[in-house]
Amino acid sequence: MFWDKPLETIDCRSLQILQLDRINTALERIAATPGYKSFYDSKKYKIKPLSSLEQMKDLPFTTKQDLRNSYPSGFLVTDMEKVVRMHSSSGTTGIPTVIYHTKNDIDNWSSLIARCLCMIGMSDKDVFQNMMTYGMFTGGLGLHYGAEKLGAMVIPAGAGNTERQLKFIKDFKTTVVHITPSYALHVSEIIEQRNLLDGLSLRIALMGAEPYTEATRLKLEERLRIDVINSYGLSEMNGPGVAFECLEKEGMHVWEDNYYVEIVDTKTGMPLPDGEEGELVLSAINREAMPILRYRTHDLAFIYPERCACGRTHRKISRIKGRTDDMFIIGGVNIFPSQIEEVLMKLPQVGSNYVIILSKKGSLDKLSVRIEVNPDLFAGDLRHLTQLKETITRKLREEILINPTIELVEPGSLPPSQGKAVRVIDNRDKTV
Ligand code: ADP
Ligand code: ZN
Repeated sequence: MFWDKPLETIDCRSLQILQLDRINTALERIAATPGYKSFYDSKKYKIKPLSSLEQMKDLPFTTKQDLRNSYPSGFLVTDMEKVVRMHSSSGTTGIPTVIYHTKNDIDNWSSLIARCLCMIGMSDKDVFQNMMTYGMFTGGLGLHYGAEKLGAMVIPAGAGNTERQLKFIKDFKTTVVHITPSYALHVSEIIEQRNLLDGLSLRIALMGAEPYTEATRLKLEERLRIDVINSYGLSEMNGPGVAFECLEKEGMHVWEDNYYVEIVDTKTGMPLPDGEEGELVLSAINREAMPILRYRTHDLAFIYPERCACGRTHRKISRIKGRTDDMFIIGGVNIFPSQIEEVLMKLPQVGSNYVIILSKKGSLDKLSVRIEVNPDLFAGDLRHLTQLKETITRKLREEILINPTIELVEPGSLPPSQGKAVRVIDNRDKTV
């Protein structure tokens, strides 16, 4: 189903004309805002209208640090009176950045979300429980207004308080939830343990805000007998609604009429062709209060070179492999937490939570993984635990090429996450 068929299936040429026009409008408004213009002056870039999208690559990048430097409102290009809301990033990697929205911006953002929800078959018949944190975090209000625009019944539950969440899901016959993958693993485990599934009406979980792997998706889909849909966004680009999976479940459509998308080489910053993995660079080209051009997301992905079978022409990005700043180096090997997660979640004996701990022994880096396992393993023969430990060690060594220390723990013994999970604890500067 389409929310806005002409725009969702726009032909390539018309899309490019629209993008160029929007980028030039943004540049014009930036040039007229002294604070914002001074940023481009400092980069020795003279703002002028682009004659083709080809010239986008000559624009300097913007970074989280640039936004922090412009705090509280240096990148605002409208009068403050026109602003109706502000949001900020969750601050996963430091001081949060502030984004302002006019009434039109909020309206437009809600339409983008409604487009996403319609794409996966949601309608006004659905009961939508938003289990993301409300407040400054965009996963709360962002999805909320989009789902209302679609006409769904919205339960603004917020994150946490699992007993209450389960009661809502049951009593109000929730059909769609929006939740982080780490919290979903926790909640689904409880549903499974208590055998609650048959009494529920759940059919879809929208999942994003942190990286997760295909194995985690499959585990959750199987456990809850639902579709898990990947949703990607970041507050600098509004929040959710930037890229969303369609029912093909193979990559996320980026709404290119609103976001100009590039993949660049992490080292050289040069654009890479479709199909090659690199850093995602996004431009919010249709925002009144705060256009942001060529923002370095630090997220790693690639663009699918093929057209999608669903009929939408907007290109798709892959599942996010991780943030460049999530990567850690152990004994010279670059490792992403997602590589470890992919191995763990494929094993049925592994439970819902795990944490990676980095430490130092002498001059050597050490990687340990503490993993919750299924309850019956603890009740059963000790040999099974030993075997599982060996299997995990071997499979991880094959994937990350170094020898991990594995510690198996009982389900529920690691602190459950409700928002963005902290998967890596780096104690290397604290241990010897
Ligand atoms: P912060 O940068 O402080 O975490 P945000 O709340 O804006 O603030 O989070 C955006 C980031 O969350 C993205 O840049 C990305 O790293 C991560 N993220 C969001 N959705 C997904 C997703 N579906 N898959 C992987 N990572 C995601
Ligand atoms: Zn599609």
